[in-house]
Amino acid sequence: MAEHSFDVTIVGAGIAGSALAAALTGHGLSIALVEARALPAGRSEPAPGLDGFDARVSALTPRSQAFLERLGAWAGVTAVRACPYRHMTVWDAEGTGAIEFDVDEVGAPALGTIVENRVLVEALVERFRGAADVTVRAPERVDRVVREGSQVVLALAGGDTLRSKLVVAADGALSPLREALGFRTREWDYGHRAIVATVQLERPHAATAWQRFLPTGPLALLPLPDGEDGSHRCSIVWSIEEAQAEELLALDEAGFCAALGAASEHRLGAVLASTRRLAFPLRQRHAVDYIAPGVALVADAAHTIHPLAGQGINLGLADVEVLAAEVLRAAERGLDPGRLDVLRRYQRERKGDNLLMMAAMEGFKRLFGARALPVRWLRNSGLRLVDGAVPLKRELIRQAMGVAR
Ligand SMILES: Cc1cc2nc3c(=O)[nH]c(=O)nc-3n(C[C@H](O)[C@H](O)[C@H](O)COP(=O)(O)OP(=O)(O)OC[C@H]3O[C@@H](n4cnc5c(N)ncnc54)[C@H](O)[C@@H]3O)c2cc1C
Repeated sequence: MAEHSFDVTIVGAGIAGSALAAALTGHGLSIALVEARALPAGRSEPAPGLDGFDARVSALTPRSQAFLERLGAWAGVTAVRACPYRHMTVWDAEGTGAIEFDVDEVGAPALGTIVENRVLVEALVERFRGAADVTVRAPERVDRVVREGSQVVLALAGGDTLRSKLVVAADGALSPLREALGFRTREWDYGHRAIVATVQLERPHAATAWQRFLPTGPLALLPLPDGEDGSHRCSIVWSIEEAQAEELLALDEAGFCAALGAASEHRLGAVLASTRRLAFPLRQRHAVDYIAPGVALVADAAHTIHPLAGQGINLGLADVEVLAAEVLRAAERGLDPGRLDVLRRYQRERKGDNLLMMAAMEGFKRLFGARALPVRWLRNSGLRLVDGAVPLKRELIRQAMGVAR
């Protein structure tokens, strides 16, 4: 039962918390990282079969990639496995509307890269493993949170207490820390569940991220590296209304593959095999404030968003990048990193961007969920119009890549 003091304590070592530890190490701060699960012991070998893939993947934007490169973590990702995509095809189930995005329209090497979440966390943890300035407490849980003036004291389940100038909640969408500290959120249910799985397909994905908008919700087929045996693989994110999600989850593998093939209009041929399916309830959630004296929320602890445009952790990594820059700037000037003026700069820079993206995703979901004929007509004409308007399309691509100015 000892009390320990740190400049910064990060709660949660998912992608966001690990990225923050990687960004802060080596700058003269004392950092604690508390994670309920054990941290990865090293890099995993890329296992060959479908089951060797993490069912959780992220479509990372070039902006996120650039940040991970600056952290020195990107090489660790690509050394294991990642799949860049150069095209994106979005089409509508109910009409003839379609839009194609191609990397050549913006002259970049890729529109984005599909990365397994496990591989990304491993590469980030590698950047601070064994660092003298990062004290890892894992597996360990935050049990109680006590505010003492401007400081937040964390009581760990193991008995120790951590006193910190700044506590960062990177503890995910349900953020126990956010709740314990009384941060208010605005939230609503999308009424969708996301089913994720790794699937084998008859035809190659052609380095393309495929997305079909069905009236029941969007279906994404995200490209993964081909197997050594030449097999073609994708990760799927199938967001679907609750009742249909139950039905899909109850199907056996052959039934699910058939349903997925039909839902994707067999664009990649037959679906030959699927891993076990996982399902995630989808809820939009946004903290009214990201900060309080001595506390900051980042990534899913601050905001969760529909996965239809694959922006969740991209926004989260941008939060981490900005917060780390502000904390390091304060440290250089001898200022306490938990000061409200330091944290306000972080909130100011990130909240507007996050809100904008969340509003856009909500708009997309409603537009494509609409069954009324005039809306469907407008949607199809709109897609065709955008597809033909090169400058507008270029701007949309740049926004989605996180590189718009
Ligand atoms: C189906 C689906 C598909 C998605 N696809 C994309 C995509 O393509 N692109 C994209 O950008 N985003 C995507 N997202 C969003 C992305 O997955 C999340 O934004 C991201 O995983 C959040 O990371 P995080 O580090 O904030 O939280 P988490 O990954 O939830 O990590 C939180 C960590 O905190 C730990 N923790 C929690 N409570 C405690 C406690 N009391 N004490 C100690 N530790 C604790 C947990 O064990 C966990 O490790 C998708 C989301 C879903 C559901």
